[in-house]
Amino acid sequence: MTDFPKELLTGYNLYRERIYSQLEEEYQNLAIYGQEPQVMVISCCDSRVTPEGIFHAQPGELFVARNIANLVPPFVEGGSTHGTSAALEYAVSGLKVKHLVILGHCKCGGVQAFRESNGKLSETGQFVGPWIKMLEPAAITLACTPVDKNEDPQLALEYAGIRQSLKNLMTFPFVEELVAKGELHIHGAWFDIGSGTLRVMNSETQVFEDAQDLLPRLKEQSAETQASKEAAESK
Ligand SMILES: [Zn+2]
Repeated sequence: MTDFPKELLTGYNLYRERIYSQLEEEYQNLAIYGQEPQVMVISCCDSRVTPEGIFHAQPGELFVARNIANLVPPFVEGGSTHGTSAALEYAVSGLKVKHLVILGHCKCGGVQAFRESNGKLSETGQFVGPWIKMLEPAAITLACTPVDKNEDPQLALEYAGIRQSLKNLMTFPFVEELVAKGELHIHGAWFDIGSGTLRVMNSETQVFEDAQDLLPRLKEQSAETQASKEAAESK
């Protein structure tokens, strides 16, 4: 007898039939040659936010760490059992990913729990409380920043939490060094579950912008770069 969830067994059978059978060779190559993902995503544990689904990524393409409220803790000397920091270290120093993405989302339960705790974080859980306390600097920054009164306070803290995690990323010496050399790029993004909208943080303005507008802009940019390169070569 087994009480393994039937839905998982049914899903696994579908995966074997529809996905594995189509990508058998790719899976075998990944097993033989190992993984070389270019991107690490740090996202929330929320079951509605799946990085591989949102970015339509195949196995081997994304190195993903998930935790409550997509938080990056600040670097600490001699850090003990720390899942996110260990994943970050392995992605950056071991796998040498080129991009780190902090992916937040709407209606984040971790952010909501922090907002509703009124400073009594211990009541949100023995482990959840200390973990979401990491949102405190983000909440303080937000309280000190003049904001649009129409802005949804939940959304404002979701954005501020992403900005804080980006700040915390830079406290890791191995991240800071590679970012300074231009060999590693860090990004903030936010996903709206209901509409499927992705917003990406503009690194200069820190404003979150619709991702659908970014691809044409990126294409324009690379066309301009190519044109100026060709012009310089023809001189
Ligand atoms: Zn969440």
